[in-house]
Amino acid sequence: MIFLHRAPFVVPVGEPLITDGAVLTENGRIIDVGRFVDLRITPGAGIIDHPGTILTPSLVNAHIHLELAHLAELGQRETPKNFTEWIKSLLVLREEKEVHGNFLEAQALLDSLYYSGVGLAADIGNLSKSREIGAGNRVKTHFFWEILGLSRQAEERNLQQLANLDRENKDVSCTAHAPYSTAANLLQSVKKRAGEKKQLFPIHTAESADELEFLHNGSGPLRNFVEEKGVWDGSFTPPGCPSVEYLDRLGILDYLTLCVHCVHLSDKEIELLSLRQAKVCFCPGSNRYMGVGKAPVEKILAHNILPALGTDSLASNPYCSIWEEMRILCQDHPGIDPAMVFTMATRGGAEALGEADYGTLGPGKVARFLAVDYEQGADLETFEFLAQIGGQVKIEWLK
Ligand SMILES: [Zn+2]
Repeated sequence: MIFLHRAPFVVPVGEPLITDGAVLTENGRIIDVGRFVDLRITPGAGIIDHPGTILTPSLVNAHIHLELAHLAELGQRETPKNFTEWIKSLLVLREEKEVHGNFLEAQALLDSLYYSGVGLAADIGNLSKSREIGAGNRVKTHFFWEILGLSRQAEERNLQQLANLDRENKDVSCTAHAPYSTAANLLQSVKKRAGEKKQLFPIHTAESADELEFLHNGSGPLRNFVEEKGVWDGSFTPPGCPSVEYLDRLGILDYLTLCVHCVHLSDKEIELLSLRQAKVCFCPGSNRYMGVGKAPVEKILAHNILPALGTDSLASNPYCSIWEEMRILCQDHPGIDPAMVFTMATRGGAEALGEADYGTLGPGKVARFLAVDYEQGADLETFEFLAQIGGQVKIEWLK
């Protein structure tokens, strides 16, 4: 099947905006992208007009926890007093509302991502069965089994689980939760396993002031929390430095490490991220809800790092929409070019997940892209519209 999709605007991402553009596809692949008058139209191609729209790549959600979708009521509450209070509430609610294997809310959330134009996502889960949520969905979903444990006992239990996985030859991607929740040796072991398999290693990094305080001197709300939970056995030695520096000391920072959140970064750490070619994923909607601060987006961009965008879970983000992430990022950082914001939501995510088929429109790419209704915002410049429309956007999937 050959189709020629024509629209007033085509946003290839990485190439200039095309007016009166078109995308030629054949059997699920893009053959050509350009001005309508310049494209050589294959005989027999079905020409489909999309008046009043912008053709764009599908969006990428580079960080979500689908398995927490049934805890959406937490993300509807008021901003927590601090980060640690939110973790406590999450654990209480998770205990109350245990999932019994059906993941109905998670499936519905993934479907809603698809209907909003997300074609690719990175899903993090603590339950190994959570990998079933995204399997076979229209959103291509990379699942990462997240490991955490600070005590010696938790470390040994998790290392044993990893060994069992490999003995059973299960090729599941594993990752660690965060530098404050996972023992150093365990962090290094999970990263080593991911590195050997050339798998991405997403990790929550530099998200809150509580995290920084705990890493600096082992004190603060997180210390109180782990003591209350009875998992503080004194085996964790605070590194006395912030998160990215710590990960680098452990040898964890490289081009396959995706640092998620990156709210509290020193200039030295931004240099380190750049030097190690580490990937960055911002979650502005979750950061706003949690009240943890705003990421230094301008400084990251000044270091030629192209970040991805992620929603995090419904438990810390009432929307879980990449359109909303763009809108919030524009509000928080009005000086950033909206075209760059849209690039983060598309190419940034695809590059972070190592999926060359996604994130841009060009010859050879997968023909799964969007016609975005522009009629509701035609007074705005194209990229301002795309980056600021938020969740009220209307899209249609094209192939
Ligand atoms: Zn997360």
